[in-house]
Amino acid sequence: MKIHEYQGKEILRKYGVTVPRGIPCMSVEEAVKAAETLGGPVWVVKAQIHAGGRGKGGGVKVAKSLEQVKEFSEQILGMQLVTHQTGPEGQKVRRLLIEEGADIKKELYVSLVTDRVSQRVVLMASSEGGMDIEEVAESHPELLHSIAIDPSIGLTDAEAAGIAAKIGVPEGSIADAVTNLQGLYKAYWETDSSLAEINPLILTGSGKVIALDAKFNFDANSLFRQPEIVAYRDLDEEDPAEVEASKFDLAYISLDGNIGCLVNGAGLAMATMDTIKLFGGEPANFLDVGGGATAEKVTEAFKIMLKNPGLKAILVNIFGGIMRCDVIAEGVITAVKAVSLNVPLVVRMKGTNEDLGKKMLADSGLPIIAADTMEDAAKSVVAAAAGQA
Ligand code: GDP
Ligand code: MN
Repeated sequence: MKIHEYQGKEILRKYGVTVPRGIPCMSVEEAVKAAETLGGPVWVVKAQIHAGGRGKGGGVKVAKSLEQVKEFSEQILGMQLVTHQTGPEGQKVRRLLIEEGADIKKELYVSLVTDRVSQRVVLMASSEGGMDIEEVAESHPELLHSIAIDPSIGLTDAEAAGIAAKIGVPEGSIADAVTNLQGLYKAYWETDSSLAEINPLILTGSGKVIALDAKFNFDANSLFRQPEIVAYRDLDEEDPAEVEASKFDLAYISLDGNIGCLVNGAGLAMATMDTIKLFGGEPANFLDVGGGATAEKVTEAFKIMLKNPGLKAILVNIFGGIMRCDVIAEGVITAVKAVSLNVPLVVRMKGTNEDLGKKMLADSGLPIIAADTMEDAAKSVVAAAAGQA
């Protein structure tokens, strides 16, 4: 799960990381009022969307007067902000963050990620803040430093000071950097983050260390014990089909292709998508209906897939292990009758009560294309999507 920058900064502040004073806003009037409340000669008007690269896309502007705060807020609020992370269609800006301007002397980069190889949280840091870290890693790997943190000890003073020195934090600011890095680590650890990135972390003219940006991702599997994080969820920023699917406890991810997939089990769902691709097709989604798929769940899954205007065919691929094939067949029949199915449907079923399930589908009188093997199923659905069924 992702959150907005201003929410990330709220978390950081709680953990003792220095962030600029700022106020989130939903309208131009609120933005001007926020700037008045903050006071001072310089403000930054920042688009709040769940994607980075906002600065380059015109979503971050430095205002030197209240008139400019108004002007930039009018420009940014409601704009379709395109960055390298939004895709070409961009993301509509519905919220702004108005912040006091910072006196930037140097932009640094720091982030934490959970590294599966070392099974530790890894702190990465670079003197080259403000730019894409992928670029730094590519062209100047020697400027990217990292340490794997021992979970039983946490980020030590010596480790934090060492990495701060490596990225060019001057002697007088090291203690400040250590406080900020340790606060970031604690925030990451206690909120079950999977990514926390501060780009840029800045050094000010007076030697202070401040987090000027904040990006957090959280482990979805831990949200049950993170109610404060869940409260930050902004459904406007999420894929509507995925939001709808989550209400029915369906694991659904939208993709770019035209073949809808309804599968039980994540592994089989991945294998199904691979097989579709192997025979020249493109999946429209990943969908795992889970082990306890009821007729209601299957119906909702069909409805969500059918909302996609680009959908050309559907493949249902079910392994009846704990789940019986006749139950799934009943679910498919109920679902197809409940929705107005306007694309070809290929069904493959294997496992418990397979014969009964197949018979139910055949007897239903519905235009279902039966398939026996994965290969059959994928070939049939790819042909159907191409209009050759
Ligand atoms: P991102 O482009 O989505 O990563 O958004 P950031 O929050 O990182 O902002 C992009 C850039 O805007 C930063 O790298 C800074 O150079 C600049 N910026 C952000 N806040 C301020 C500020 O308070 N003052 C000045 N002068 N520049 C800022
Ligand atoms: Mn940034």
